[in-house]
Amino acid sequence: MKIREVKCKTLLNNSAIADYCVNPYVGCQHGCRYCYAAGITFRFRRGKEEWGEFLDVKTNALEVLSREVEKKKAGKVYLSSLTDPYQPVEKKYELTRKILEMLVKKGFPVIVQTKSNLVARDLDVLKRNKLNEVGVTVVTLDEEVRRNFEPASSNAEERLEAIRLAKENGLRTYVFFGPILPFLSETDLEGFLTRFKKAGADYVYVDRLNLRPMVWSMVSKIVLKKYPELYDGWRKILFSESSYYDEVKKKVFEASKKIGLELVFCY
Ligand code: SF4
Repeated sequence: MKIREVKCKTLLNNSAIADYCVNPYVGCQHGCRYCYAAGITFRFRRGKEEWGEFLDVKTNALEVLSREVEKKKAGKVYLSSLTDPYQPVEKKYELTRKILEMLVKKGFPVIVQTKSNLVARDLDVLKRNKLNEVGVTVVTLDEEVRRNFEPASSNAEERLEAIRLAKENGLRTYVFFGPILPFLSETDLEGFLTRFKKAGADYVYVDRLNLRPMVWSMVSKIVLKKYPELYDGWRKILFSESSYYDEVKKKVFEASKKIGLELVFCY
């Protein structure tokens, strides 16, 4: 893992997800093989490393943010759109924590979304504004599948425990169920969604796998290596007219109705 300290020019940027987004890092140590941020990051960052093998730390983030929060109108901030705010390096730099402290103090509500239980460390800051939200991404409860596609993240049970703690601290919580990995994510939908509800999720986002730049080249290597019997099925679903994701949508909808869980479909 190549870690560099860099300076940024801006931090609080306009976003389609919320009013603003903040990315304290460039790159992501979690190295998920289906990551849509990889293609976007490589468009503006030169280097020969693979996704998940480099990380730039924006060491002047606080200085830049302190200027921006004075100039910009308060609004909802999403952390993070192109990196995970709680990847392992955050333990050392605590950039996300310091950013949260500043945003909360200045009245900017935040939504944090992560694949790490490190978010539980910052619940003391997050609970200072009840408009703040905590979300975790969960694609599978199967540890082997998780390790194959998300090699450096916390396991799903640890993430759900962070949701339980966030709820206990009075915060609104959600699980992001996506991208749904064909034939691997949807094996027991009812059990899966029940687990989210028991953990304390107020609602669940559901998303499919989208073929953004680099996604197929990264994800197909894992499918070929670990699940070769699924490779043709994946190709069919992702590259031709297929009703697969519509059918999954229906099944998720039916299962959530039984359980009484609010859903937000992203596709
Ligand atoms: S945690 Fe998010 S940003 Fe990081 S590699 Fe995984 S999908 Fe990409």
